[in-house]
Amino acid sequence: MRKKIVAGNWKMNLGYEEGISLFSEILNMVNDEARGDQQVIVCSPFIHLHHIAKQSANSAVVSVGAQNISQHDAGAYTGEVSAKQVKSTGADYVILGHSERRAYFAEDEKLLEIKVDQALKNRLKPIFCIGETKEEREAGDFWDVLSKQLKETVFHLSEEEFKQVVLAYEPVWAIGTGLTATPEQAQEVHAFIRNEIANNFDQETADATTILYGGSCNPKNAPDLFAQADIDGGLIGGASLKSRDFVDIIKVLN
Ligand code: 13P
Repeated sequence: MRKKIVAGNWKMNLGYEEGISLFSEILNMVNDEARGDQQVIVCSPFIHLHHIAKQSANSAVVSVGAQNISQHDAGAYTGEVSAKQVKSTGADYVILGHSERRAYFAEDEKLLEIKVDQALKNRLKPIFCIGETKEEREAGDFWDVLSKQLKETVFHLSEEEFKQVVLAYEPVWAIGTGLTATPEQAQEVHAFIRNEIANNFDQETADATTILYGGSCNPKNAPDLFAQADIDGGLIGGASLKSRDFVDIIKVLN
């Protein structure tokens, strides 16, 4: 059976001490309240990674991830952080393809394909995001958009490599807006994504792929979303900044 995951994306929030203390709260609550077969990933800003990766090194449930890596190996790229550097902090995951990076940092499929390869080369597992804008959904051609976002970034991988990838469907219109996709809308897209994976790889690979939903997910709407056949957990923004909300969402995986 594929893994069920709840991942938090802290985005560009929290000072050093604030992040450390939120992570401690999450770790304690998860150890007390979550089941051993659940997987929780906290994707923090770079500044917290080393500390929180150390804190959770012995946890069977909680892992740590970054929110970006450079497309380059190393060298004169001021301000960038490489996949190898992220790995050296103890992190195991990296979010790639997030719509905020696509929109504000001009990350396109060509660049993302390189970043996916960089991640895997350095034993970081990509949490790879795709999603359509409001205009694309309303125009009705968003299936092609989603298909292209997948095909040109992760479908070149071997089956073995692709097994390291967690996918996340994050409709852009639902991110930080309080507007959530209905469980039916989300399920329809998740089933489509799984079908695309089966067509490119095979059914076994498709069935083994964890596909998360992201976009204004909270403890109230998570139960109906996670009950859908092809929704394997969530990628949580705003609600991951509150330990109680985040852990309540994790408990929905039960
Ligand atoms: P919100 O949960 O704040 O809508 O953010 C979702 C997201 O972008 C997670 O990556």
